[in-house]
Amino acid sequence: MSTFSGKIQEISHISVDRFDENNLTSEAYFLSHCHYDHMVGLHTHRFQNNLLENNKYLYASEISCAILKLLYPSLKNNIKILDIYTPTALLLKGGNISVLPIPAGHCPGSVMFLFETNIRILYTGDYRINKNDIKKLKAFYDSYKQVKQIETIYLDTTFFLKSYRKFPKREESLEELCKIIKGWTDKGKHFSIKLFTSAKYGYEYMFNEIYKKTGMPVHVNREVFNFYSTIPEMDKSVTLDCNATQIHCSCGISYQYVCDKALNSKIRTIKVSAFRWTQDNLEDGFSSNSSETYYVCYATHASYEEGVELLKFLKPKSVEICVKHEDPLTNLEIAKLIEEVLDEFRSVAEVNVKHKLFETEENVSDESLTVVEEETIFNGFDIGILDSPPRNTWRSSTELQMKAGSSLNNNSVRIHSIQIQSTESVNDIIVQQSLDVVELESDINTEAPPNKKLK
Ligand SMILES: [Zn+2]
Ligand SMILES: [Zn+2]
Repeated sequence: MSTFSGKIQEISHISVDRFDENNLTSEAYFLSHCHYDHMVGLHTHRFQNNLLENNKYLYASEISCAILKLLYPSLKNNIKILDIYTPTALLLKGGNISVLPIPAGHCPGSVMFLFETNIRILYTGDYRINKNDIKKLKAFYDSYKQVKQIETIYLDTTFFLKSYRKFPKREESLEELCKIIKGWTDKGKHFSIKLFTSAKYGYEYMFNEIYKKTGMPVHVNREVFNFYSTIPEMDKSVTLDCNATQIHCSCGISYQYVCDKALNSKIRTIKVSAFRWTQDNLEDGFSSNSSETYYVCYATHASYEEGVELLKFLKPKSVEICVKHEDPLTNLEIAKLIEEVLDEFRSVAEVNVKHKLFETEENVSDESLTVVEEETIFNGFDIGILDSPPRNTWRSSTELQMKAGSSLNNNSVRIHSIQIQSTESVNDIIVQQSLDVVELESDINTEAPPNKKLK
């Protein structure tokens, strides 16, 4: 669960995935995806009035914007779509920036943000990109087909631990899941599946695959149905009709419960999660069961190996840890593991920085820049917002070199430790929803290991 404070240290006049406290003074806001641990403060009157009264904007992907407009219709004129793979320039008082959204593979509409000022910062949000796919992402290359030099990565460290070295691909997990579902529902109409997930949303891909492989939609409650109805691809894979399917998930009074129809039939429970699936447990396969309760490994966050691959490919000078775990020793271990990876390529990174500093203005290309709204339009590149390598227009080469040098030497791994808190009404539904996620994920984290192999 994200513990990121919202502030990108190098671009302190914007906020990402956090909308309370000192983020209220930011000039522009960015949301990587619509999961509640990334939306803290967004529901408050304080934040919403701040947007409306000061003509500020919240930027997100097209799908996230559709969900946001459904949740907060009064903000519809202050929510702006960022097109995937398209750099967008924003003129801001605190300094102009370019932002490039990159698909994050975590849930529909989830993106990473590549911010560019005179340096580049990658904020991953929650992500899962297969090891082999990272180098295929065009957004990571500049117009010279060189891998872009990134100063700092704000990293999803949910599973950056050797105990979570590898996860099965999502396709493999879903193949297994559907086999377990059909092994029960094929017995007859009164055999129902209770699907138990570790969070309320984020299972769009799973529900779609279940529909494709079993021909049955998933029964969900009205709230969950409304959420998924913002995603056109989901039309057939969720239903409000409990009689239209034998598969039930989040169809009771809250997302952890199922409807009476399911409860009154013969139930097989399937729990999908990644936390319980450490490397030892995965040695025997990625599903297990105890009687009619089944466990399937399904990860929507990067494994340790996938995280290492991203760092090795982009070679950032520093990393910010965006998911702080409850156990301080776990956080130290993550910091140490990241430090080890950075150590491997540090000397090479230094050479790259020096190379960039000697590039000339003539190399600048403006082909891929897209601008939004009148007040943010740039006339050319004299202010240094680029998709091609950054120029030292705003700072002297010496300043840039000093900054690069200083971050190489110390504090290259920092941990964000802001906890979810709210001073707003405890009855507020969104706060409640985010607490639901916290409680449930910590439960799963402490479950006993699976004790029986399926196959
Ligand atoms: Zn998420
Ligand atoms: Zn149901």
